[in-house]
Amino acid sequence: MKKNEDKPYKGQCLCGAIKYEVDEMTNLTAHCHCSMCRKFHGAAFATFGEARKERFRWIEGEEHLKSYVADNGTTRQFCDSCGSSMTFHAPTGQDDIVEFTLGTLDSDITLRPDAHIYVGSKASWSDICDDLPQYVDGRDSEKIT
Ligand SMILES: [Zn+2]
Ligand SMILES: [Zn+2]
Repeated sequence: MKKNEDKPYKGQCLCGAIKYEVDEMTNLTAHCHCSMCRKFHGAAFATFGEARKERFRWIEGEEHLKSYVADNGTTRQFCDSCGSSMTFHAPTGQDDIVEFTLGTLDSDITLRPDAHIYVGSKASWSDICDDLPQYVDGRDSEKIT
């Protein structure tokens, strides 16, 4: 078996206090350019993978997860020790799905991001240099390219 086919996939925060496993991801993986994800990550955009709740589990350090609930009701979880961004959840989202930060994954995966979302809020200094579809807001919003 090739390394990139090893399952479950494993991930952890920067300090290693929080560890998780993912059996299977859905095929939805987007780069989010909204201003809140940008600040949450301290980066040009955030990349989230998705898994059904029963295919995702915290292995260690779940007690280190802290939640920040923004004014619009979205919840972002992060490590209380190293500050790593871990998950995102929108009140309008599916409750049976976990959106986790792809940057915390240690396993190699063959899946690739398939969209840029909230491009309408993109940082002025960040240029998108690939051919993935771009949406003004979420995936169901106006398509830019
Ligand atoms: Zn940590
Ligand atoms: Zn976002």
